[in-house]
Amino acid sequence: MKIKDIEIRPISIPLKEPFTISLGTIENADNVILCIKTDDDLVGYGEAAPSSTITGDIQEYIISGLNFIKPILIGKDPFDISRIEEDIAGAIKGNYAMKAAIDMALLDLIGKATKTPLYKLLGRYRTEFKTDCTIGIKDPQDMARDAVRIVERGFDTIKVKVGTGLTQDVERIKEIRDAVGYEISIRADANQGWKPKDAVRAIKKMERYELELIEQPVPWWDIKGLRWVRTHVDIPVMADESVHSPQDAIKLIEQEAVDMFNIKLMKCGGIKNGIKIANIAESVGMECMVGCMIESRVAITAASHLVASTKNITEVDLDSSLSLSEDPVEGGIKIDRGKIVLPDKAGLGIESVKV
Ligand code: MG
Repeated sequence: MKIKDIEIRPISIPLKEPFTISLGTIENADNVILCIKTDDDLVGYGEAAPSSTITGDIQEYIISGLNFIKPILIGKDPFDISRIEEDIAGAIKGNYAMKAAIDMALLDLIGKATKTPLYKLLGRYRTEFKTDCTIGIKDPQDMARDAVRIVERGFDTIKVKVGTGLTQDVERIKEIRDAVGYEISIRADANQGWKPKDAVRAIKKMERYELELIEQPVPWWDIKGLRWVRTHVDIPVMADESVHSPQDAIKLIEQEAVDMFNIKLMKCGGIKNGIKIANIAESVGMECMVGCMIESRVAITAASHLVASTKNITEVDLDSSLSLSEDPVEGGIKIDRGKIVLPDKAGLGIESVKV
C-alpha cells in the first residue's frame, strides 16, 4: 500500500448559535478535511480544526502546511506512520492541528487495510461512554435555560464556560445548579480568565454548588499560579491550554501543578501523542479528559477511538459536532442522549465526508 495522492478540502460550517468563551466568540467552524488516497483505492480521513487563540492555527496555514508536507507523504506506506511522523516533525515545527489530521488519516488507512476498527488496533478498553455538553458564556439566566435543555436532551454532565468576572461567574454556576438540581454533574472552564487569587475566591464560592472540577483557571504560562490554585481549593484542577505536548505533561507533573489533563488532538498532534500524554498521566496515577476544538464528526470520531482504547481517560468533552448547523459526515460515531457509541467498521469507521 502506497500513498498516491492527498486531497485538501476546506470546510466552513456555521455554528447553530455563536459560542463565547473568555478568549472570544466563534461563529463558524473553518476546518480542513484531509483525504489520503492509496494505490489500492483506500481513503483515509482526517480533520484539522484551527483554534487561533489556543494553538495559533488558522485554516489558511493548515492548507499551506499540508501542501508543504505533501511530498513527504506521496509514495509512502501508511504502515510506516512512525517514520512518516518523524519526517514531518523534522520538516515543520508546531502545526499540531495539521499533524493531527495526518495522524488520524494514516491510522484510518491502517485500520481499513487490516479491516479492523481503530480502537481494536489500539487495544479496546470500552466501546461506549458519556460525553458532557458545553454551555458558552451568556447571562447567567440564559445559561440556566440552556442547562435545562441539555438535561432534557439526556446529558448528565454539563461543562460551563466562565472566566469573565468573579461575581457573574459564581452567579452562572448558582443559576445552573438551581435549574438542574444535584443529580447532574457540573464542571467549569475558565479558559485562562482568572488571576490565581481571584480563581481561588471564585472556586471556593462555587464549591458549595458541588462543582466537579475546574479547567484552566489561570493563563497557560502561569504554572506556579496553577499550582497555587490547586493547593488552595478542594476540587480537582485540570490543565487544558497549559498542556499541549507530552513534554508539557511531564513539566506539569514535576511541578505538581494540576490534578488532571485535558488532551485534545489539535493541541498534541494526533492520537499517538494523545496516548503518550495519557500514559505519562497514568504512570503517576492521574486521570485525563479528552476534549475538542470546534471539530466535525471526523475529528470527534478519531478522538472517540482514543477514549475507547485508553483506560485513564475517564472524562469526555466531545460535543462540538452537535453545535454545528450541518453534519458533513457519513458513518463515524453516534451520539444518543449524551452517549457516544463507536462504529464497528474498519479504521475510523467514516464512510464519506461531503463538502
Ligand atoms: Mg478548556
